[in-house]
Amino acid sequence: MAGVYISFPFCGQKCTYCNFASGVFPKELEANYLQALGTEIHDAQWEWKPETLYIGGGTPSSLDGDTLAWMVSAVPGRIWREATLEAAPGTVTPERVSAWRAAGINRISLGVQSFVTSELQRTGRKHTSEVVASEVARLRDAGLGNINVDLIAGLPCQTESSWRESLDWIARLGIPHISVYMLEVDQDSRLGRELLLGGVRYGAADTPSDEQIVAFYQEAVDSFRSLGVIRYEISNFARPGFESKHNLKYWRLEPYLGFGADAHSFDGRRRWQNVESPSEYVCRLASGNSPIAEPAIAARADERFFVGLRLDEGIRPLEDEWNRFADPIGRFISQGLLTTDGSRIRLTDRGVLFSNEVFAEFVEQ
Ligand code: SF4
Repeated sequence: MAGVYISFPFCGQKCTYCNFASGVFPKELEANYLQALGTEIHDAQWEWKPETLYIGGGTPSSLDGDTLAWMVSAVPGRIWREATLEAAPGTVTPERVSAWRAAGINRISLGVQSFVTSELQRTGRKHTSEVVASEVARLRDAGLGNINVDLIAGLPCQTESSWRESLDWIARLGIPHISVYMLEVDQDSRLGRELLLGGVRYGAADTPSDEQIVAFYQEAVDSFRSLGVIRYEISNFARPGFESKHNLKYWRLEPYLGFGADAHSFDGRRRWQNVESPSEYVCRLASGNSPIAEPAIAARADERFFVGLRLDEGIRPLEDEWNRFADPIGRFISQGLLTTDGSRIRLTDRGVLFSNEVFAEFVEQ
């Protein structure tokens, strides 16, 4: 069954590490954007009723309750197996939480990134660990206990002990799902550009080394495992039963439709993506044009390998794939990076640390 993703790229601030097409935009663009979004969802060809919904951003948790309810109800379906809302700590007010519940939201993804105030302040985030703790309690009191927390390994000034502090907060709060992302260094974020230039702004000079970041990641794997929160995808950890049903679709190559600026879609055979800029998205919809940036492209036959191998369950190669990829599969098994039970292959713990090297071999075939 399929999923729906809705993008709301409006934020109260632009975080230094953020490389998404999100940011601070004029208020009037937000109103026009919502109108364009309504048009795109209304005009979609629904071949199926979605079973999962994911409203991401940006900061969709800053929307008022009525607008959020309108957004959810615009999508056909309603009885969601999972309906996730991304929320920024500091926006989880009692009024909003009851509006989210009433709208059918049943999972919250909190963009915490760190529980350490000095790390957060350098990125432009304004919340504290106490704010996160009280908002987690508020969500639980309202029956929204299916909570994800995002953490970033590699933030400026992060040390072994400050990373430990964030992991201890996860344990103390009993968070059932955690996503751990490694800091991405590219041209699309201010911190990434500064690091590429060898500068010092945004704390770039105090960014942990690659080796430290790998050690942080490994410590998170071990810490979560001791709590019964198990890695089921390279960056995602869950108590059994709390795995994200929507995100699993991405790795299992199940279809999803994306709406809004920079949203991606996949119908099982082809992929396409909307224009990145919210203002261009609005212009296109307002003038009756498609928001799709490029013509749809056929999905690659080898995607199953480099997407599916991200999952702990791995993949079950077809007979011709065993033959076609016999060389890399055999080599990685002998190097201890892949393991097999004869029908499935999956990354080993060590293979996860070298996953990019493994994936590259399958892409090149
Ligand atoms: S990290 Fe989140 S809140 Fe910060 S700019 Fe990016 S999308 Fe907005």
